[in-house]
Amino acid sequence: MKILEDRIKQDGRVLGEDVLKVDNFLNHQVDPELMQALGEEFARLFADEKIDKVLTVESSGIAPAVFAALSLQVPMVFARKKKSITLSSESYIADVYSFTKQETNHVMIDKRFLHEGERMLLIDDFLANGQAVTGLMEIADDAKAKVVGVGIVVEKTFQKGRAMLDDQGVHVESLARIAAFEDGQVVFAD
Ligand code: 5GP
Repeated sequence: MKILEDRIKQDGRVLGEDVLKVDNFLNHQVDPELMQALGEEFARLFADEKIDKVLTVESSGIAPAVFAALSLQVPMVFARKKKSITLSSESYIADVYSFTKQETNHVMIDKRFLHEGERMLLIDDFLANGQAVTGLMEIADDAKAKVVGVGIVVEKTFQKGRAMLDDQGVHVESLARIAAFEDGQVVFAD
């Protein structure tokens, strides 16, 4: 998606070998007009999937997810992260190892907000090794809901998440695909 790639080129900052910082339009300060355009694009890409609900993880997935849900005219639910776990029969819970924070979080969704047979679109800001998406898929599975697609704002093709989801036959759409970081610059995949 050209406006997203242009914005990454303009405002993204490469940290180390494998992290892109996008905190002035996506992860901290948020550009609502850009988020709206991303949401509309996700809705277009998944128009044939008959989505009932959009699912994400707090906090960085919320902005693109809520605009995707607005365009699809469905609710959005975000998994909450919990520091300590008190196993409750009222929540679905999964462990997610955070690529950027290098810690494991328990992510939790109240059982009132996911139902058997619902068709879910998962949205996240980044796809790296696929841990966040896998956690959401486990939760959807526990709820007997069906994941019909995964929408990613920025995919890093050199990490293993995309190949893992492709192997599972998941319909993945990424709005920007990064093949590499070279000399502090972003190289987009074709
Ligand atoms: P994964 O679970 O696929 O390994 O990583 C995805 C999660 O880690 C996303 O929810 C995102 O918050 C974070 N993440 C992964 N790579 C990056 C990155 O390059 N930049 C930023 N800002 N977050 C990332």
